[in-house]
Amino acid sequence: MTAILAIDLRALRENWRKLAGMIAPAECAAVVKANAYGCGIEPVVRALLAEGCRTFFVARLAEGLRARSVARDATIYVLDGLTPGAAPGLREAALRPTLGSMAEVGEWAVAGGGPAALHFDTGMNRLGLAEGEAAAALTTLGGAPALVMSHFASSEETSSPDNVRQIAAFDRVRKSIQNTPASICNSSAIFLPSKPWLQVARPGYALYGGNPTPGATNPMRHVVTLHAPVLQTRIVEPGDRVGYNGQWTAKRRSRLAIIPVGYADGIPRNAMGTGEKVGAEVAIDGKRCPIVGRVSMDLIAIDATDAPDVAVQRGAPVEVLGATIGVDEFGARAGTIGYEILTGLGARYERAYRE
Ligand SMILES: *Cc1c(COP(=O)(O)O)cnc(C)c1O
Repeated sequence: MTAILAIDLRALRENWRKLAGMIAPAECAAVVKANAYGCGIEPVVRALLAEGCRTFFVARLAEGLRARSVARDATIYVLDGLTPGAAPGLREAALRPTLGSMAEVGEWAVAGGGPAALHFDTGMNRLGLAEGEAAAALTTLGGAPALVMSHFASSEETSSPDNVRQIAAFDRVRKSIQNTPASICNSSAIFLPSKPWLQVARPGYALYGGNPTPGATNPMRHVVTLHAPVLQTRIVEPGDRVGYNGQWTAKRRSRLAIIPVGYADGIPRNAMGTGEKVGAEVAIDGKRCPIVGRVSMDLIAIDATDAPDVAVQRGAPVEVLGATIGVDEFGARAGTIGYEILTGLGARYERAYRE
């Protein structure tokens, strides 16, 4: 018996349809990098294709090849850009690089070119061409790119002045590259009051049930449910300590349940509960139970004292993520973000897809 990661492909499709409906007539693409945020590239791409999605974004060439294997005719962009020597591999699989420097633009042109995005940095200082390089990039490419794009640094902060500045900078870039579809929205940016949807939006997180509007109610349906079976229960007495280095001490007679998920499965060590810090919570039969003691490689202990007796039995399912415990909440309680929880979802889980 292992932990089971259930991926609700119907909820995923509903999430995509919701965003696509919001931004129409702009096109809603889908970001499926990092194994589709832990959910599995191939099943996710297949499901979204069936829903009408035609454009996908991945980070790496290898991810692009996996997406291509199930989406023969889709448009697929590789966000990491053109890594040195990657052009032939991209061209062979009809993958499009997002060119982010003049070196990349030059290498792509020399390799024979083909459809590509031009990626402009508008204030994040990560990947992307400078505004002033637009004319040179067009000359080197020998024409307009297939897409012109940029990326927000703070789109989940609705009132951040960064957003206003980046939109203005991207407007200037778009003026110098006319008649070309443009894209700047990730999940949270789709919900910005200024609606900078342009021609193509690129949501990832929200498709997988993450909250694109932190602080407000999550408008998306949850997609990921992770259940782990109880391996053992044990009673500890007040003063007994739990786990590596005994970092949690029972204050009352407590019933622990041990479940087979650990940091090697993507449960952050910071989800631990110690004397100083309350642990992240899981749920048994809807009752919240905190993680106690250190997160081990393969196991965690939870304090199941307050859960119903019938639900705390060997083999009974414990919800680590799901309807009660969302990815945003689990991330926050573990000192990180839901994105890291999703993309860290382990390779050891049995993945079960609900159509
Ligand atoms: C990951 C990524 C996205 C998707 O972002 P979400 O916040 O997951 O919607 C969009 N664009 C770029 C450039 C990215 O790296």
